[in-house]
Amino acid sequence: MDTKFIPVRVSPFTPVIGLEVHIELATKSKMFCGCSSDHFAKEANTQTCPVCLGLPGALPFANKTAIEMVVKFGLAFDCKVNEFSKFDRKHYFYPDLPKGYQISQYDLPLCLNGKPGIRRIHLEEDTAKLVHRAGKSLIDFNRSGVALMEMVTEPDFHNTGDVVAFLKEVQLVARYLGVSNADMEKGSMRLEANVSLSPDGTLPGYKVELKNINSFRFLEKALTAEITRQEEILKSDGKVENETRGWDEFKQVTFSQRTKEEAQDYRYFPEPDIPPISLSQSQISSLKSQIPELPEKKRQRFGKEYKLSQDFIEILVSEKDRADYFEEAARLNNNYKIIADLMVNKKMDGQFPEPAGLIKKIVELTSIEYAPPSEVESAVNLVIMDNPKALEDYDKGNANVIGFLIGMVQKRLNGKGNPKLVQEKLLERLQK
Ligand code: ZN
Ligand code: MN
Repeated sequence: MDTKFIPVRVSPFTPVIGLEVHIELATKSKMFCGCSSDHFAKEANTQTCPVCLGLPGALPFANKTAIEMVVKFGLAFDCKVNEFSKFDRKHYFYPDLPKGYQISQYDLPLCLNGKPGIRRIHLEEDTAKLVHRAGKSLIDFNRSGVALMEMVTEPDFHNTGDVVAFLKEVQLVARYLGVSNADMEKGSMRLEANVSLSPDGTLPGYKVELKNINSFRFLEKALTAEITRQEEILKSDGKVENETRGWDEFKQVTFSQRTKEEAQDYRYFPEPDIPPISLSQSQISSLKSQIPELPEKKRQRFGKEYKLSQDFIEILVSEKDRADYFEEAARLNNNYKIIADLMVNKKMDGQFPEPAGLIKKIVELTSIEYAPPSEVESAVNLVIMDNPKALEDYDKGNANVIGFLIGMVQKRLNGKGNPKLVQEKLLERLQK
């Protein structure tokens, strides 16, 4: 036998990773004004008003749907919803922030303490977009003020695989709830990871922020590279700087974007122009009742009810519409594995917009054309002639040989014998 040695990476350090995820909400209008929030690929600065341009004297008003979406999202992750919540101003100076502050939430976010390790989920507004073109920086305010939720986790992740799996689930839940398309290419879902290493997996005195990563694949690579980079520094007794780093896909390394000497002071204070939010228990439970079956529960149920393989389940559940399609088809026909196979491997749900069409096709594919009765009869005769011993056994009272003989007949008929007819003819012949 060929012996292969699999190299095992032994490290004296455990990664400590916390996440910040920004998700743009799929509300029709922006967070604090009536402008359309559908900003993607729109002509620059066509969806603005005094509020989202931050003009003096403009008054914001909160988008109720956005608040409800965040509450539902938080409940989906077992968060505690704050009955009393408020908005705060977060100050920093950057050209994409017309007011000089972002309306966000500081000490009383909408949602707290979810699972797994979710510290908080709060609601804020998106910034404008800077476009760098021909040596100039241009500002597009279409995105300014779009409803944005931010999920912050505890530094509870200790490997790259868990981080990516968790974030994929976050994306899936956002889509199931219809709160966002969470499309990373369009910037509707944006990831940041705080990475450090320590001997025992507790937070050391530093962290590196990985920012501007716009796909799960890049995140996986960036985390792996960053963990290795920090490991090498620590192994040679060096000190890892507190800094923000990006991912260079071309060179396959993380690179320094900004070093942080001290924590920035955002001078948070309560937003005076928007009244605080109070949510009653009955409002919260009514929102909870609107949550559909979530992906994890669906996976478990699909395993139990339809006995499908994990691979099939994962693909079916990865889109709510696909899972619903499967279930509608499964109600019409109980060939669950065939339905799943045709959907997953043959992509037949694309050919048949209605599950009923797919089922019709399955019935066509699975209905066997039985051999004519005369053929069955002659196959039975041949099998009995060929197996005198079986006939003897049957006469001695061994009924078990019937199964054997049926198998032999079906073999002769290439499995095309109508099972009922085969048995009938065989018994007729044996009892003669
Ligand atoms: Zn506006
Ligand atoms: Mn934020």
